[in-house]
Parts: sequence; C-alpha cells; structure tokens
Amino acid sequence: MKIDLTGRVAVVTGASRGIGRSIAVTLAAAGAAVIVNYRDNAAAAEATVAAIGAAGGQARAVQADVSQAEAADHLIKSALDSFGRLDILVNNAGITRDTLILRMKDADFDEVIDTNLRGAFVCTRAALRPMGRQHSGRIINLASVIGLIGNAGQANYAAAKAGVIGFTRAAAREMASRNITVNAVAPGFIETEMTHALGEGTRKAILDTIPLGRFGRPEEVADLVCFLASDAAAYITGQIFTIDGGMVMT
Ligand code: NAP
Repeated sequence: MKIDLTGRVAVVTGASRGIGRSIAVTLAAAGAAVIVNYRDNAAAAEATVAAIGAAGGQARAVQADVSQAEAADHLIKSALDSFGRLDILVNNAGITRDTLILRMKDADFDEVIDTNLRGAFVCTRAALRPMGRQHSGRIINLASVIGLIGNAGQANYAAAKAGVIGFTRAAAREMASRNITVNAVAPGFIETEMTHALGEGTRKAILDTIPLGRFGRPEEVADLVCFLASDAAAYITGQIFTIDGGMVMT
C-alpha cells in the first residue's frame, strides 16, 4: 500500500531525535509538510529538517516546550503560518525520570506528567480549532506498553502513559463528529536515547520478555503512525496499537 500525504501538514512534537525524528521523516517522505518541534536541541532539530529537505520534502523546526499551554498554541500557529493548514498532530514528546516511588521527588512526578500527558492535552486543544474548521484531522498520541502493564521505577511514566490512553479515548469520542480521529500507539522497547540509558543487565532482562527477541526500530513505529495519519485509516478512532515485538498480548 502506498501512502500519499501530499498537501497535508503535520506537527510532530519532540521530533529532534528518536521516534519523533523518524515520524517526521516518514510523514515528509509520504508528501506531508512537517513542523519539527523540539525543546532544547536546536541542532538536532535542524538536522531532521535538513534530512527531510535532502530527500525532497518540506519541513521547518519550531522550538516549543509542549508542557506550556502558550508554547503549544505558538507551535500549532506556526503550522498555520508556515503551511496554511493543519491535518496531522503527533503528540510524541516525552521524558522519563525513573526512580522508585519512595525516592521519587514531586518534581520527578510533575515533570513527567507535564510533558507526556499535559503536553498531549494542550497541543490537542490548540489543534482542535483549525482541524474543526477544516472538518478533518488526525491526532496520534505516543503512549507506551508501560501505561498498560506498569513497571517498577516508572510510576510517574506509567501514570502519564495510562493517562494518554484515557485521554485518547475521550478525545476520539469528543472529536468524531468533526471527522477528527484520535488514536495512540503504545511502543514496547525501541532503540533510542531513552532506552540507551538502560544498563546492559536491564536490556538483557527486557529482551527475555520480547517474543521477537529484539528491541524495535524508530522507523517501525513511524510506519504505523504514518498509516494512522493516512486516508487508509479513516475508519479507525479511539484505538491503542501496541508495537512491541509481542511483549504484551491481550
Ligand atoms: P527521546 O529519544 O528521548 O527523544 C525525546 C524527544 O522529545 C526529543 O526530541 C526532545 O527534544 C523532545 N522533548 C522532550 N521534552 C519536551 C518538551 N517539554 N517539549 C518539546 N519537546 C520535548 O525519546 P524517544 O525514545 O524517541 O520517545 C518518543 C516518544 O515515544 C515518547 O513519548 C516516549 O515516551 C515514547 N516511547 C518510547 C519508547 C522507547 O522505547 N524509546 C517506548 C515507548 C514509548 P530535545 O531534543 O530538544 O530535548
């Protein structure tokens, strides 16, 4: 199946590296013009934009801390200012602050909720107006299998990602009448800087729980997101797609 997103405009949060970068590159390769959002790493975001440009695509880097409502408004406005419309929002930006609950500081909890969950909310709220006017839109949220099954040392992250799953379902019901679909992808363990921080012992223990016997690649998550952003997924909303090498089977 060939996915064609020519004429569509996408915002991908946290697209300077990792899964977000892959999503931005994949959407652009399918023809979408892409806003590449980042928080701190301007050079990496510009590298994503350059990679898209070199492949013949259109992109622009925009700094915004998605945990701040005003920044989210600015981010969505930048898509309208640069490319005239907004068709696809990928709420990908995410952080971890792993530690056991007994040692978890309020800030460890709040920062993870603010970026992973509040970020998805404020960006979605900002995107709703232009998408509603167009009477079409695709919103794809990055959840995690940790939001489904939990993980010791990640109570903050598990709570945020479980929140993203609930938010996705509520938003899908609320926005369906405006022809806006809202879905989530829940990756298992994907090779990015987030998982490179894991020690060798932890990686080995995780690998033993993955039937396909390897971590996933960012491009594999990006292909799923690209499908959900396409016309081929027009009748899918409110769903959570695990992509985890078979780690979680329900
Ligand atoms: P990553 O490599 O650590 O990259 C995180 C990205 O998010 C960076 O582009 C970073 O920008 C951006 N970011 C962080 N806080 C932000 C903020 N407040 N505002 C805007 N951008 C912000 O992460 P990843 O592994 O690609 O993960 C991407 C998403 O997938 C996250 O939501 C994560 O929870 C989810 N996920 C990942 C895995 C995995 O195994 N890797 C598994 C399940 C789910 P800067 O470069 O500017 O800091």
